[in-house]
Amino acid sequence: MYIGRFAPSPTGPIHFGSLVTAVASYLDAKHHDGIWKIRMEDLDQPRFVEGSDKAIINSLHQHGFHWDDEIIYQSHRIDIYQTYLSNLNQQGSTYFCECSRKEIADSAMTGIDGMIYPGTCRNKKLDANHHALRIIAKDTFITFEDKIQGSIHQNISKDFGDFILKRSDGIYAYQLAVVIDDALQNINTIIRGADLIDSTSRQIYLQKNLSFPSMNYGHIPIATLNQKKLSKENHSTPVNDANIKNNLIACLKFLGQDYELIEKENTLTNFWTTAIQLWDISLVPKIKTIEI
Ligand SMILES: [Zn+2]
Repeated sequence: MYIGRFAPSPTGPIHFGSLVTAVASYLDAKHHDGIWKIRMEDLDQPRFVEGSDKAIINSLHQHGFHWDDEIIYQSHRIDIYQTYLSNLNQQGSTYFCECSRKEIADSAMTGIDGMIYPGTCRNKKLDANHHALRIIAKDTFITFEDKIQGSIHQNISKDFGDFILKRSDGIYAYQLAVVIDDALQNINTIIRGADLIDSTSRQIYLQKNLSFPSMNYGHIPIATLNQKKLSKENHSTPVNDANIKNNLIACLKFLGQDYELIEKENTLTNFWTTAIQLWDISLVPKIKTIEI
């Protein structure tokens, strides 16, 4: 059984870019008679905007999404992340790092997604005291077949280096939390924005280290405005819940779908029934960004 998910960060009301991701992940799951879950990625509490989780949920409800299971919040799952992190520590797969951002910037090479940490603290045997925790990136090739973007090959040590699992401020890293949550929620297919495509091989590497099953992935293009990803930070306009049908049609257009028949439906229920039936992932543009 297909089990998919949508995992927004509650940092503001839903905007077009996140609505597109919700639509794509929902249609792909439902087209395969699957289950679709929602998870709030609220680990980075300073960025959390009070009430925006409720606003996102309300907006999804208004747009006619039906999700399965209770919505889970990462901020309630700290003990679970710590348990798995302790397993990795016991395996000897991790170490503490005291380097500042500046020290790393001065000595590191730039990789696919930021600096490649040069392993300065690997043999220092530091204790936990306000230090970041990193996983040892072994010389491992990761290959996966993305349902939209095609074959991806990356080398964990050469392209990323030892990456952070827990930050020096005590916050569990996105990569770690996502891998644990997806496995424990029995997710098997992840449709999300292409800004996360370069996180995927690190997540697969963590899955292997934690003996979790592997997933199927599809990365849809992300919507950009002046070459920047739409986000709450660049004040992209929230979707207007008074224009439900227009919003959804705009998402289908963005995703390259044939929407003429869907557009003729006059109830939200029929709209979704037809959209689910006609969903064709092969029509999604195989590019990483679309300027809107
Ligand atoms: Zn260090």
